[in-house]
Amino acid sequence: MNNNDLTASLLNFLDASPTPLHAVQNMASSLDSAGFELLDEASEWTLQPRRGYYTIRGGSSIVAFTTAEQTPMTTGIRMVGAHTDSPCLKIKPRPEKLKSEYFQLGVEVYGGVLLNPWFDRDLSIAGQTSYLDAVNRIHTALIDFQEPIAVIPSLAIHLDRDVNNSRSINPQQQLPIILSRSGDDGENDLRKVLLDKLKENHPEQEIISVLDFDLSLYDTQPAQIIGIRHEFIASARLDNLVSCFTGLRALTDCNSELPCLLVCNDHEEVGSQSAIGAQGPFLRSILQRWCGSVQGCDQAVHRSILISADNAHAIHPNFPDKHDSNHGPLLNKGPVIKVNHNQRYATNSVTSSIYRNMCDKKGIPVQVFVSRSDMACGSTIGPLTAGELGVQTLDLGIPQFAMHSIRELCGADDVDYLYRSLIEFFNVETLF
Ligand SMILES: [Zn+2]
Repeated sequence: MNNNDLTASLLNFLDASPTPLHAVQNMASSLDSAGFELLDEASEWTLQPRRGYYTIRGGSSIVAFTTAEQTPMTTGIRMVGAHTDSPCLKIKPRPEKLKSEYFQLGVEVYGGVLLNPWFDRDLSIAGQTSYLDAVNRIHTALIDFQEPIAVIPSLAIHLDRDVNNSRSINPQQQLPIILSRSGDDGENDLRKVLLDKLKENHPEQEIISVLDFDLSLYDTQPAQIIGIRHEFIASARLDNLVSCFTGLRALTDCNSELPCLLVCNDHEEVGSQSAIGAQGPFLRSILQRWCGSVQGCDQAVHRSILISADNAHAIHPNFPDKHDSNHGPLLNKGPVIKVNHNQRYATNSVTSSIYRNMCDKKGIPVQVFVSRSDMACGSTIGPLTAGELGVQTLDLGIPQFAMHSIRELCGADDVDYLYRSLIEFFNVETLF
């Protein structure tokens, strides 16, 4: 597989994954194609050696792993972690608003959204809906309108002459999306819109009513290679679907003889504390089932390393003073080891040395990031998973611009570097 094929697959994955639910569904179908077996958490598991398995919790978190001839207690597990969610606008439970004769929907801000770039985009809606059939059974199905059906228009500069100096956004008042002019027929009802779409998607079912939904807005502009040298990838959700995709491809392509695992959690952008988040019990519960006991799990964990893959901030040429001058990662110069001794990142000198050594042997460049001493540092699933499991962890990620914008930017070569380094990690014989 060359770099171009990997990039093309990534662009397809980004476009087909407007929500964490869709991302996990797409990851599951890749795992099915690679011969992995779906495990039901509600059933008893009997795992065989040299097989691939995966399980999904809540529809939007997934763990995939490969068993080996040797047990995890003897070899440890090469673990890679990432998160499936991205900051976005979600539709409120009773969203309908009729103002100035427009049919609008109110939105809730999910995570740390950079709000300005959401204006003047051709938006669509995706997520899941639960509905009732003719025999009173509840079904839940993914939904994606795909077409641009909504917009948040900017206010013209003529009506706010100070906008370029002092614009702030009130999400309650200024972010409700416009779906249409309000109809005279009284059909300004999102559930009716959803019902029509569900009937179109599932003609075999008699669908009576929509009970509830979990819907997000997204930009319909597809992911794209850009730049005069075609070296950048522009897309929504690069943070952190790039790491989910790359981790998955590395796991299914590596042919490792050792126990390997990929965990992709939802809810990182809102703190990770949930039944399916990195601060919840999902991963430990799988490791205990795999290892057969609490003691076996702890034994395996102490021989394991987790690479927590989540994008890093590249130094921006227009804002260079936002970085420490010795720690300004560049696009297409390799994955970035993220360091924060206050444990906002879980990297330590042992895990970073192991990764550097692996990359040096393969000619993969590696960069390092630590935030300015006078600025607060972000965080990710690495320290939370390390805190839950007690596993030695490396926080790592490819550099990007515009993190949490609706249109982010990263380097295509970095995706390939990350992919190759994760394959190396899954195959490395001895960790410590
Ligand atoms: Zn992230």
